[in-house]
Amino acid sequence: MPVVVKEEMLVKGVVFYLASDLPSEAKLLLEDFRLAVNNAIRVGLQARVTSRNALVKIAYKDFREQHRRMYAQHLVSAFEVAGSALKNHRRRIRKGVTSRIPFVKRLMMKAENQAYKLDRKSGVIDLPIRAGCHVELRLVVSQYHREYLDDMSLSLGSLTVLPDRVIVAFRKDVPKPFAPESALSLDTNERSLDGIFVEGDVAKAVKADFPEVAIIQQRHHDRRKRLQKKKAHDRRTSRTLCRREGAREHHRVEYRLHQVANSVLKFAEERKSAIILEDLRGMRPKRNKELNRRLSKWPRRKLHQIIEYKAQWKGIPVVKIDPRNSSRTCPTCGRIQHSRMGAEFACECGWHMDRHLNASINLLQTAISKGMAGGLRFDPGAFQHDVMMILYEPAMAARSEPNGTSGVVGVT
Ligand SMILES: [Zn+2]
Repeated sequence: MPVVVKEEMLVKGVVFYLASDLPSEAKLLLEDFRLAVNNAIRVGLQARVTSRNALVKIAYKDFREQHRRMYAQHLVSAFEVAGSALKNHRRRIRKGVTSRIPFVKRLMMKAENQAYKLDRKSGVIDLPIRAGCHVELRLVVSQYHREYLDDMSLSLGSLTVLPDRVIVAFRKDVPKPFAPESALSLDTNERSLDGIFVEGDVAKAVKADFPEVAIIQQRHHDRRKRLQKKKAHDRRTSRTLCRREGAREHHRVEYRLHQVANSVLKFAEERKSAIILEDLRGMRPKRNKELNRRLSKWPRRKLHQIIEYKAQWKGIPVVKIDPRNSSRTCPTCGRIQHSRMGAEFACECGWHMDRHLNASINLLQTAISKGMAGGLRFDPGAFQHDVMMILYEPAMAARSEPNGTSGVVGVT
């Protein structure tokens, strides 16, 4: 994940491709590092420890002998990577999820910020291999990268080196969110975000449409099922193919979710809006199994996660509201409808509204009543039914270009 919150610091991993092939000394370092990580994992499993410090204590001396050619700080960093793999492994076991013994397959290494130098002007990394041996990695720097390199409020964190690219972690203090001048309240659905934008006395409908996310998932689900059937006699092949399918699906969906989030945040940033979302954590599972499979999949939570961390980075306030009854409550008279609603919410008092918009109005009203949306007011009567602002639609995907930020940091 590109951004993690750690001690009030935000961290964003930015991917840089290398201008030339990785020097052979660095390639050897990656191999050595991977070996050290996998050895440390084995030591950790045997000794039942998962922290970097415990691993250092137990194994540093031996490892120093075995990996003589490695810079000491990189060795400590290998313990760190092994430690996090061990922690994930232990967490999965505790949760009752089958977890195979962790093993780092891909060539990688991680250097802590004091174990490398990056010249932010020229985009050249000085990476020590061992005493007296350093290599230079020249990065490909685009306009997008410049924004991070030139922003001196960002400090440098760890460096992850892969055979063809590096990931530099940029860190900054959590910015104070701005005081909102408007609000963007969004109901999160399987194929769209639907909601309202309120500014002054005016309220308009907004929409971000992402039907492909559900389509991609459905297609891959079907294909997986077919694969499982076809390769039923060969469980290993079947599993490998399914995993490959899963990774592909994952990337495509995640890429689209980033685009949707970017459009929402751009809108909110330009208009100084607070973003109001439902808190999805308490969602009860639905009974229908098929529906549940599609609904409970992670895209909606993932979309919220992306919106939240990007908003935090930019200082845009995000408010999370318990969605209970939000789709069944009448925002004008407060009645709760117990019968199942169709596409439109209708109330005895005469109020009727698109079901999703109605939910977003309720989210907004809850946020306002709890004083979580600044000094904003909202009158359902001010809603302009004839206006629809499009935040995102599938056609916009064709126009935008990947910017190289979707790199995944970590161990696979
Ligand atoms: Zn009513």
